Amino acid sequence: MPRTEPIKAVRGVHDLLPQERALWRTVEIAATRVARSFGYQEIVTPIIEHAELIERVGEDTDAVAKELYRFEDRGGRQVALRPEATAGIVRAYFEGHLNQGPQPARLFLIGPMFRYNRPQKGRYRQFFQFDVEAIGAESPAVDAEVIELAATWLHELGLRDLRLDLNSIGDAKCRPAYLDLLRAYYRPLKAELHGECQRRLETNPLLLLDCKVPQCQPFKAKAPRVTDHLCDECAAAWEAVRRLLHAAGIEYRLDPHLVRGLDYYTRTAFEFVVEAIGAQSSIAGGGRYDGLIEQLGGKPTPGIGFGAGVERLLLSLEAAGVTAEEQGLDVFLALHEAELKPRVMPLVTELRRQGLRAEVDHGGRSLKGQLTHARRLGAATIIEWGLERSVVRRPGQPDEEVPTAELVERLKQ
Ligand SMILES: [Zn+2]
Ligand SMILES: [Zn+2]
Repeated sequence: MPRTEPIKAVRGVHDLLPQERALWRTVEIAATRVARSFGYQEIVTPIIEHAELIERVGEDTDAVAKELYRFEDRGGRQVALRPEATAGIVRAYFEGHLNQGPQPARLFLIGPMFRYNRPQKGRYRQFFQFDVEAIGAESPAVDAEVIELAATWLHELGLRDLRLDLNSIGDAKCRPAYLDLLRAYYRPLKAELHGECQRRLETNPLLLLDCKVPQCQPFKAKAPRVTDHLCDECAAAWEAVRRLLHAAGIEYRLDPHLVRGLDYYTRTAFEFVVEAIGAQSSIAGGGRYDGLIEQLGGKPTPGIGFGAGVERLLLSLEAAGVTAEEQGLDVFLALHEAELKPRVMPLVTELRRQGLRAEVDHGGRSLKGQLTHARRLGAATIIEWGLERSVVRRPGQPDEEVPTAELVERLKQ
């Protein structure tokens, strides 16, 4: 039975059409180039992992519980589509014996992630991330390096009004005492907090600092700051990260309310935010996760990284008027008569060999039709090709008539 309606894409996912892909590629090429220039190597991990791996990383968080694409495969195994890159990369770091190589292992990944959330603008169920991880080094110099890598990439893309927020959230040694202080501060205010914050007060008070609900805002300013209560090691690392960022010429804003909700996150937390008119949008976020690998059942190993959502970045780039580096065609050859085609093909082949994007009409269009077609393709140069004489047309420049033999020589250069 033929269907009466065409089959549409699955809800919440989208196609990257060629016109969007151009800017996407610019983002990807810059990410690869910058990461490699910092000595990072590309890793590709499967989009599918054992559900247990993902759930251990995000244990007890709403995002994992509600938004995980989790299902049973045909062999009865519980698997999940990765919601982020770190878990898979950390797994591969041990499984691929990268832990036995030079440390830290400097890795980057670009690929799709999956979250079963409510789709909205700039937020999809399949979305792409550029992810960078440095695993196996505790030095704050690596924190600064990862931040500098992200900053270099975002600046290179032409993003303006970019802000770097920075904080330290301590570690297993100093954080418990700080959390006690935070609870003690918030307890008398409990009745004035919103419901979720009331619940989190005892279980995960750090998240109260991250709350965006208006009624909770007035209390944040006077809350004790984690950076005032760091142990000596954390304080030294905090000081070193800031000194190194300063030396690298990277400006940042101290944000005592930039926190993470999971225990395995330690020390440096950072976020790149684009401040557009009337709104701001987090482009990339990351930090240190020295407790993560132990939680996954591995030997305690420090790590730091960040993830950047490509779709949201593209929205910011479009808003900032950034356009793709490569678009359209370099040369379109329009023919007076279809019979000329065999004569012109060697030239087209030669242009393509030189790396130019060249096309010739296949549709048997009239000359006028070919010229219209070439303009729609965005051709930078249109050549009206004749056996003896040709006309070179470039937008914004006067047309130029040249002997075809001369044109062939010129194009070959
Ligand atoms: Zn709240
Ligand atoms: Zn500490």
